[in-house]
Amino acid sequence: RRKTDEGSVVVVGLGRFGCHLSGALTALNHEVLAIDRNPDQVQRWSAQLDRVVQADATEEGALRQLGVADFGRAVVAIGASVEASVLTVLALADLGVPQIWARATSTKHAKILDSVGAHHVVFPEAETGERVAHLIVSRMLDFIEFGDDFAIAKVCTPETMIGRPLGELTPTERYGVRVVGVKLPGERFRYATDATVVAPGSMLIVEGDIGQVQRFAELS
Ligand code: ADP
Repeated sequence: RRKTDEGSVVVVGLGRFGCHLSGALTALNHEVLAIDRNPDQVQRWSAQLDRVVQADATEEGALRQLGVADFGRAVVAIGASVEASVLTVLALADLGVPQIWARATSTKHAKILDSVGAHHVVFPEAETGERVAHLIVSRMLDFIEFGDDFAIAKVCTPETMIGRPLGELTPTERYGVRVVGVKLPGERFRYATDATVVAPGSMLIVEGDIGQVQRFAELS
């Protein structure tokens, strides 16, 4: 399998979050150097990942020896130990890694990561918790929410929209959402046009204010 060079990523910490992250990066064809200080974790993932090494990532010298300074991106996936996570970000920043991503488990943790040199801070537990809450209580099948309450969601087709072209149904005027994609049963998602006629069992991708998107999903 061919790998892209510029996409190489260092991942520190092969816990539950780090192992999924590393697996996903590998599946996206990015070379991963995974570092964990626990030999059991290293042993466990060495078959699935390209390069897994045992090292204490809070040690700048150890990271330097592994060539981490030459990588364009690093992710600190440590969650449980705030101290290890902060010291690792500090070491990566001192090495001059241009893009440092770090996982925070609280807002205070995030503040510290930010102040020691993390360029991007993510909150996987908080984000997933909020997301799953939305999916549980709404009829959206999937969604992404952006700032300003704007969202894009996958929803089932409301009964009232079946059999007539979208241009006639005017979902934007009626419900405040824009239908951008349609998946007819057994087909792939395609761009929606005014001429698109929705069949029973179709799925839609709609965008708009999160409240309106949710209300639209309730119609199905
Ligand atoms: P999760 O919630 O994703 O399971 P954890 O914080 O429990 O995350 O796991 C973090 C991983 O990071 C563990 O496998 C641990 O061995 C590793 N780790 C912790 N500190 C260091 C460090 N200083 N250097 C390298 N790896 C570390």
